[in-house]
Amino acid sequence: MAFDYDLFVIGGGSGGVRAARVAASGGAKVALAEEDRYGGTCVIRGCVPKKLMVFASEFAGTPDQARAYGWDLSLGAFDWTAFSGQLNTELDRLEEVYRNLLKNSGVDSFDARARLTDAHTVELSTGKSFTAKHILVATGGHPVRPDMPNAHLGMVSDDIFKLKKLPKSVLIVGGGYIACEFAGILNGLGVNVTQYYRGAQILRGFDDEARGLIAESMQEKGIDLHLGTNILEMAPASADHSASHAGTGSDAAMGAPVGTTQDLLPGAEDTGEPVWVKATNGSENVFDAVFFATGRDPNTADMGLEEVGVKIGRRGEIVVDEYSQSSVPSIYAIGDVTNRVALTPVAIREGMAFVETVFNGNPTPVDHELIPTAIFTQPEMGTVGMSEEEAREQEPVEIYCTSFRPMKSAFANQPDRVLFKLVVSKATRKVLGCHMVAPGAGEMIQLAGIAIKMGATKEDFDRTVAVHPTMSEEIVTMREPIRTA
Ligand code: NDP
Repeated sequence: MAFDYDLFVIGGGSGGVRAARVAASGGAKVALAEEDRYGGTCVIRGCVPKKLMVFASEFAGTPDQARAYGWDLSLGAFDWTAFSGQLNTELDRLEEVYRNLLKNSGVDSFDARARLTDAHTVELSTGKSFTAKHILVATGGHPVRPDMPNAHLGMVSDDIFKLKKLPKSVLIVGGGYIACEFAGILNGLGVNVTQYYRGAQILRGFDDEARGLIAESMQEKGIDLHLGTNILEMAPASADHSASHAGTGSDAAMGAPVGTTQDLLPGAEDTGEPVWVKATNGSENVFDAVFFATGRDPNTADMGLEEVGVKIGRRGEIVVDEYSQSSVPSIYAIGDVTNRVALTPVAIREGMAFVETVFNGNPTPVDHELIPTAIFTQPEMGTVGMSEEEAREQEPVEIYCTSFRPMKSAFANQPDRVLFKLVVSKATRKVLGCHMVAPGAGEMIQLAGIAIKMGATKEDFDRTVAVHPTMSEEIVTMREPIRTA
């Protein structure tokens, strides 16, 4: 049977664009449909704008430190309008880059929503239909609000980048990557941040010692973090709900509170009036905004997937095998829509492995082991491999760990501490996990990740000469384990 295309990709995010480009460069006839902006979550409403906001927020700490180093510097006002204008210009530029990458590799792209009508046919919202030998679903995910009355009054991460003004006060609900990163960002930008996390410690699943230091540092920087606390009820703030207002943020930085439709850019979620919130600890407060960072679900609704026989999992994800193939042989899926490891570089890897498998005749399973990752909290965390808690369930381990005030903050008499930790197998001496909490930890863990992926032992770390004077030299100079388990 002759198909219109060799490959039809649904979704123009990092994974989909990479797979489309690489397949097309190898000679395949490829099309791609995207209903929103090209670049997907990472470029448009995730990693990229988030990291730029981290940069913006970190300047808040600069004058204090600079003064200790002899500079006469003081903190002026933060201009959200100027920053977000620049941010949007940058995102427009990046979106154009993505469009051009597709065009230049010969991919036909369609600005349309796509759904499947059979195992080889894609129907677009424009009314056109195309057949393809292979279909790749790379539709990503979306943030979810908790299932509770008035949850629509809260924003989600997509909305943050569209705000016309920053709120004076915000309640962030959740303790994962997004909650903790935005707590640091908004706090740095002068917003009065309260964070509720229902569990005992933020960043569940990461190394206990590392997340403990991050939580402590976040509190030191002024984030009002409540552990073991969740949102119980919420409603528009009104005479009936006259609890204390948490909006004591810096006027210099903020301007008027957010909350009315005219405060928001076109397309932004209407976060309504300030919100009254009752917490599980019984407290009642009013916040200018509530921000739910309570997880993300795969984008699989209303795509005709189940109708054509694609198996969908409990969270709405497409169930795939190690080659990213779904239960329908012609349909593959990569990235967040598969709910494996929801990280951009992983989606890109999965896209490359898909092309290798399907178009280059070289079956390539995706390697999800030892993925280094960074969490852009303030302080930042870089991590690869197992946490101490995970490793000690598996085998006897030695723990090497040091936490100290680095030279730069000690000189400025600032409290900031860093942490470097290695989890080592007693039997094989292999480094099973490396955890860093420090400025630039994301950059450092990329390099440590190579050694650990290669199977480096503690002795390999030991025989590497320290780079002096740096914080990270501690990673090769820790001689004695602080404990064994
Ligand atoms: P996560 O799944 O990491 O965190 C969700 C948080 O919300 C958890 O703390 C969870 O609590 C809490 N939660 C879930 N449901 C409720 C509820 N009903 N009421 C109260 N709290 C609730 O999701 P994120 O949205 O933070 O991030 C999604 C994914 O995006 C991450 O897993 C990561 O893969 C990716 N990401 C990566 C980044 C990076 O690489 N730097 C940055 C941002 C996102 P509990 O722990 O109790 O379940």
